Amino acid sequence: MDRDLTQRLKDEASRIGFDRVGITPAIAPPTYPNFLEWLDSGHAAGMLYLEKNAAIRADPERLLEHARSIVMLSMVYGRQEPHDSGPSRGKVARYARGADYHEVIWRRLDMLLEWLRTERPEARGRAVCDTAPLLERDFARLAGLGWVGKNTMLIDRKLGSFTFLGALIVDVELMPDRPHGTNHCGTCTRCLDACPTQAFPTPYTLDARKCISYWTIEHKGPIDESFADQLDGWVFGCDICQDVCPWNRKAPAGRMAELEANPALLNPDLINWLKQDAAVFRASIKNTALSRAKRSGLLRNAALILGQREVVEAVPTLMERLDDEDPVVRGAVAWALRRIGTDEARQALACRDSTGTHMQANWTEK
Ligand code: SF4
Ligand code: SF4
Repeated sequence: MDRDLTQRLKDEASRIGFDRVGITPAIAPPTYPNFLEWLDSGHAAGMLYLEKNAAIRADPERLLEHARSIVMLSMVYGRQEPHDSGPSRGKVARYARGADYHEVIWRRLDMLLEWLRTERPEARGRAVCDTAPLLERDFARLAGLGWVGKNTMLIDRKLGSFTFLGALIVDVELMPDRPHGTNHCGTCTRCLDACPTQAFPTPYTLDARKCISYWTIEHKGPIDESFADQLDGWVFGCDICQDVCPWNRKAPAGRMAELEANPALLNPDLINWLKQDAAVFRASIKNTALSRAKRSGLLRNAALILGQREVVEAVPTLMERLDDEDPVVRGAVAWALRRIGTDEARQALACRDSTGTHMQANWTEK
């Protein structure tokens, strides 16, 4: 094991912009059995890709032959920003308000790998940032970066939990750090109590079937009506269980300019989103994390929020979207118009119902 190389690699990681770096041997992740149990209990909801790739997470060697070490890195993102609580404004999770983090982190992981190759030309490595099946939080804890809190996020005592995690799996034996052995949640239950949808059946377990982040980002297709009522303005993701965590109270703001919030994504005007031409809207979310939900998911969420809040000013725009190219958007718009229920909205729906072109079976009358 090369202590000097390890230290210089850590220095380079800091120079590149990572806020924390730690090293763990590339062993089987200790929480893999818990992950399988979590999948078996159905808590992954419709994220079938997790099941499909589950076995790969058992061993980092499946991602890189002869993997010996994993360099775990974290980077703080964003800052506390007040929400505009206007009725037509939506909330976007802090991580998604700037440039797409995958690109930002991945580019830096590649730079770090290049640096390692200048030192050890025979070294091989693989950069991972949500891009390959790896239990990142488990390895981050093993590398000494923090503990996994009751809200299932990795928490660093100084940096809090608003951090992106990246991993560099390498076939080089580096000096490992001491795992983070303590848990600093104590008797606190703020995250569990604050979750508006009771998505934590027990501490340290997230049931994605009840999580706003899952429904607004990962779920494709219509959202169940009972859940549509609980979005509470979140049009992409949800930060509540992190916002209330005391370890985030004094956490520093992110330093990476690329990850700074785009003002247009801070509290987007949802009526404006629905008004936009499809191509223009798609272009506006390109290279941001919002693109994961696609136009379909984002406009679905926007319509549901406007409907749930009964925003009367949104009716003319919603009426125009009854002819949207996307049936998921049309269904959400119809639900919103029913919910708002002005004469104008009812007439528009009555007219469309007679043609039967826009409704889906599971969008029912309230
Ligand atoms: Fe609950 Fe929101 Fe946290 Fe999901 S992200 S567990 S909905 S507080
Ligand atoms: Fe732990 Fe409290 Fe933070 Fe939840 S809110 S993760 S219980 S410290």
